[in-house]
Amino acid sequence: MNGVDLIEDTLMSEAPMATKRLQDQVAIVTGASRGIGRAIARQLAAEGAIVGVNYASSSAAADAVVAEIADMGGQAIAIQADVSQSDQVDALFSTVMEQWSRVDILVNNAGITRDTLLLRMKPEDWHAVIDLNLSGVFLCTKAASKIMLKQRSGRIINISSVVGEMGNAGQANYSAAKAGVIGFTKAVAKELAPRGITVNAVAPGFIATDMTHGIAADDILKFIPLGRYGEPDEVAGLVQFLASSPAAAYITGQVINVDGGMVMA
Ligand code: NAD
Repeated sequence: MNGVDLIEDTLMSEAPMATKRLQDQVAIVTGASRGIGRAIARQLAAEGAIVGVNYASSSAAADAVVAEIADMGGQAIAIQADVSQSDQVDALFSTVMEQWSRVDILVNNAGITRDTLLLRMKPEDWHAVIDLNLSGVFLCTKAASKIMLKQRSGRIINISSVVGEMGNAGQANYSAAKAGVIGFTKAVAKELAPRGITVNAVAPGFIATDMTHGIAADDILKFIPLGRYGEPDEVAGLVQFLASSPAAAYITGQVINVDGGMVMA
């Protein structure tokens, strides 16, 4: 070995291996085939997490997210499940446990809208939104907490919305579901805290995704102090932080807004 090799060898052996914040942790992100869920799956994977990319019907989009993560050097699999259905949620968690034997992070992101004014709202519009946006959060959180309680650790992050805090005309079903997610988050945070599991809610404002595509910009922008829509990655950054240990270990039962200043408590 010559002198240069010796110096390089010494430097290499002394250089600490860069450890990613979520290295080898197992995450499930519901509704991760596009929009905010896709950004969350990518950011968790970028920090080293192994990600279950849940999707309801668009397998091609979910496979594309898995391929993007693989291209980044990460690890993910696509898992189909309608998370409003109890048996499908059980199958989702069974698949992840068979593959990786643990669940460290659950992000309840899947959501839909069925917007219309109250008097025009059909019971099916109400139930579809409550069944996915609220009951789906219950089903997945229950399944994850069974595993996390045994592990004595875990991170659960629920995607709520500013309209769960302030209401929105034409979104009685969605506002009720998202407000329900906030109450659910606080109750479950208290139940699970003694076992080292944190549960938090993220409340996005107006984020540019398929869900908000086509909504009149001018009406909305005047309520956003920062004067622009948010990007999915701006929500995902907070989720990634809340999933991180030890950085976010002392945060639980909180609702944190990513909304350009729309809601200031
Ligand atoms: P999006 O419509 O782009 O994505 C929603 C995802 O949920 C899709 O991948 C969809 O396939 C999936 N999904 C739908 N039904 C499902 C089911 N039954 N089971 C599993 N997955 C299902 O919307 P987005 O804007 O990315 O929204 C993500 C989350 O953020 C939602 O909970 C939404 O309510 C919330 N949110 C969005 C905004 C916004 O401005 N975009 C604001 C506040 C909150």
